[in-house]
Amino acid sequence: MQPLSFESITVDEVDLAQLKEKNTRLAVLRLDKIHPVISGNKWFKLKYYLADAKVEGKDHITTFGGAYSNHIVATAAAGKLFGFKVTGIIRGEQAKKLSPTLLQAIKYGMDLVFIGREDYHTKKLPPEIIDNGDKVHIVNEGGFGIIGAKGATEILNFCQKENYSHIACAVGTSTMMAGLVKASLPQQEVIGISVLKNNTSLEKDLCSLLSPEEQKKRFQIIHGYHFGGYAKYTHLLINFINKFYTNTAIPIDFVYTGKLFYAVLDLIKNNLFPGGSNVLIIHSGGLQGNLSLPKGTLIF
Ligand SMILES: *Cc1c(COP(=O)(O)O)cnc(C)c1O
Repeated sequence: MQPLSFESITVDEVDLAQLKEKNTRLAVLRLDKIHPVISGNKWFKLKYYLADAKVEGKDHITTFGGAYSNHIVATAAAGKLFGFKVTGIIRGEQAKKLSPTLLQAIKYGMDLVFIGREDYHTKKLPPEIIDNGDKVHIVNEGGFGIIGAKGATEILNFCQKENYSHIACAVGTSTMMAGLVKASLPQQEVIGISVLKNNTSLEKDLCSLLSPEEQKKRFQIIHGYHFGGYAKYTHLLINFINKFYTNTAIPIDFVYTGKLFYAVLDLIKNNLFPGGSNVLIIHSGGLQGNLSLPKGTLIF
């Protein structure tokens, strides 16, 4: 099992003609380099859940997710790395052929329990978990919550954050974005790109993780770049991901960071950033998700 490697994190300047034209700089915080599976954002969101479990003497982590969830496989890998038993409660019926994500989670020793969508919706714990008594530590789906956001405040410690006018990230549950807003400086704006279709409760979810003071900081969630919805994609997106890799040698994923990078470049093109902006994009990892694309779709 590969250890976590924070020394590997780099800030890569993106050098594209379209940026020069707009007098805008773009840098990428490469959290994807921390670990192939516990990639960036997932580690930051998990770390205080795991620390709390240790303090409370709990040796069994349980969490929730879908069959392609980066959070599920990251929790499995973190459990293996830090010596926790981990159960993943997976939404829906067990498919005949498990997804690459779930196969990898099993490889890391995660027990999977499949539950129907209705029970999943109410986050009802299956009996085999309840029988284990109070030694189970529950981590919300996607690591959502104040504890997850607390970990995500540390993301900006890996760059010179005062250099940037804008910080852009992908948004699933909004936990990472909440951490970035908390850590942002007064002159900075945090821009979240939603990867979900019409999830209008995201702003409310985000604000529930912020104090009244933090809610007055500068941030916004942009909704128009979901490419059909969560984990959906189009030729346009795939072509963009391949072209971006050709031009920059930075691999991105089709569920989160592909949509984020596309959106930021499109917003720059459409003059939504003032000239002279210095944008930091958070590469939050998620590259394992590309394994569920048909072979040959991506060039890396
Ligand atoms: C999970 C994930 C996100 C979304 O993070 P939230 O805190 O749930 O908003 C973004 N990028 C990648 C690569 C992810 O795996």
